[in-house]
Amino acid sequence: MIQNTFREQRRKLTINASTLILTIGDITKQTTDTIVNAANSRLAGGGGVDGAIHRAGGAEIMRECRKIGGCPTGKAVITTAGALKAKYVIHTVGPRYYEGTGKEAELLKSAYLESLKLASKKNLTSIAFPAISTGAYGYPLHEAARIALQTTIDYLKGHQDVHLVKFVLYDQGTYEIFAEELKKLQ
Ligand code: ADP
Repeated sequence: MIQNTFREQRRKLTINASTLILTIGDITKQTTDTIVNAANSRLAGGGGVDGAIHRAGGAEIMRECRKIGGCPTGKAVITTAGALKAKYVIHTVGPRYYEGTGKEAELLKSAYLESLKLASKKNLTSIAFPAISTGAYGYPLHEAARIALQTTIDYLKGHQDVHLVKFVLYDQGTYEIFAEELKKLQ
């Protein structure tokens, strides 16, 4: 008998006609209509996924960010995607966990929700998210994953217009935690 030793690196959930996928990868390489940037409220660029998107996308994204001027925590704005394969970048601002305002969960949920709503509004049918707030902003991974997934599942239950939501996790550990949390929610 052949043993299947292949380690599954993609996980999928179907909700109505839409698909939620977890995968390991680099968000700047995604071909979804839009990718989401974990930005800061000044839209000033920075490290982590934000830096990677601006580096790979070129100066046009920053020009548009400067014109917009900023984005409050929990909200989202949209620019074109410069040299990236995606057509747009939705810039959302997750909460800094260590600020301890007590509003972290609400604001993280809002960052995902506002991004999804903006995709719907712009008729974008596929969207790729990173694990917002879980890097420099220090949000504990299990809770962040649960909020990300629950918010997306609830949204897809009520909206048929977004066909694909992809979570592009940057490392194996983050992927495993998202996979665990997704299992719990199924
Ligand atoms: P935040 O400031 O919201 O915490 P970070 O960019 O510091 O944002 O981290 C958010 C997540 O994005 C982390 O899990 C980090 O490992 C991941 N990340 C960094 N670069 C990339 C990339 N190119 N593609 C996808 N995820 C990335």
